[in-house]
Amino acid sequence: MMNRVSKSNQGGKVSRSAESTAARQAVVIGSSIAGLLAAHVLGQYFERVTIIDRDRQLETSGFRPGVPQARHPHTLLRRGHLILEQHFPGLTRELLAHGAIAVEAHQELAYFREGDWRLPGQHEDTLSIACSRPLLESVIYRRLATQPGITILPGHEATYLNMDAHRRQVTGLQLHNRHKPAWSSSWLDADLVVDASGRQSPAPEWLSSLGYMPPAELVVNARLAYATRIYRRPATHAGPWQAMYIQPEAPDQPHGGMIMPMEDGRWHVTLIGMDGHYPPTEKPASWITPASCRRPPSTRLLPKRNR
Ligand SMILES: Cc1cc2nc3c(=O)[nH]c(=O)nc-3n(C[C@H](O)[C@H](O)[C@H](O)COP(=O)(O)OP(=O)(O)OC[C@H]3O[C@@H](n4cnc5c(N)ncnc54)[C@H](O)[C@@H]3O)c2cc1C
Repeated sequence: MMNRVSKSNQGGKVSRSAESTAARQAVVIGSSIAGLLAAHVLGQYFERVTIIDRDRQLETSGFRPGVPQARHPHTLLRRGHLILEQHFPGLTRELLAHGAIAVEAHQELAYFREGDWRLPGQHEDTLSIACSRPLLESVIYRRLATQPGITILPGHEATYLNMDAHRRQVTGLQLHNRHKPAWSSSWLDADLVVDASGRQSPAPEWLSSLGYMPPAELVVNARLAYATRIYRRPATHAGPWQAMYIQPEAPDQPHGGMIMPMEDGRWHVTLIGMDGHYPPTEKPASWITPASCRRPPSTRLLPKRNR
């Protein structure tokens, strides 16, 4: 069954309407970081912007099913940090107020590469903000939720594109409201649809089935994998480093790892494997074995302020 729907601006609720005419409306599929930022920018050009996401609960400090990779570290590096701050002034202060950790890479990162502990190079002499991805997402999400003209529809899955009669223009999206039976669907009109639904996007299949050639894909598979656990930071840890990165260097040393601090006094502890050397999810102690790496970082290479 197909219902035409129009969007109510109140509380992100969808109401049915026989005559939905969405003038100057943009729709963004996915409240990924890319989706949230795209909506923020589109909000400056479109009367209305609607973000839809299949996850039912988006404003959460926990992990949500649509972003399983959120359990791994998502450190905000300098460039991304500057761009976010430019779009959302005061965002860094807000993240820090929620417990994010500012890590000055040049002074506070213990960095192992090319067989020894060394200082990060000049281009890495940067501040990064360490926190969980849910914290980063929720802070940006809250900014978006109060931005005039923006509506967020959780629990809605994009299922297909709507086209004009000549199949020359995308005119909206077909949606499934995940709170309703599987057979019920609705649609949302749009002048522009942005797909930020990530690596599992069905857009290439949609385009093929509509007779268009999907964009060519180039896959470069480094066969890289992470295994992450979250630990409480040991009470005995007093530095001298805040974060640690043991860089994998395939093919000779495909194993690596990192410790990144996060809010609430916790650590992301991650094992990294390249070139098909996938890290175990058990017995992590045996992962990084080179003798040189067992040594602690030498004081020569440790943060100046803590020597
Ligand atoms: C600050 C930061 C640091 C990072 N650091 C690293 C790193 O160190 N190493 C690394 O490898 N990667 C890193 N990444 C990249 C990250 O892990 C993912 O690659 C990135 O989040 C993109 O994932 P994705 O393409 O799967 O989309 P996602 O970000 O997972 O977003 C997809 C969204 O679309 C929604 N969605 C999907 N399909 C539909 C649909 N049909 N209808 C409605 N909604 C839908 C999902 O629910 C989800 O919310 C980082 C990213 C950020 C933002």
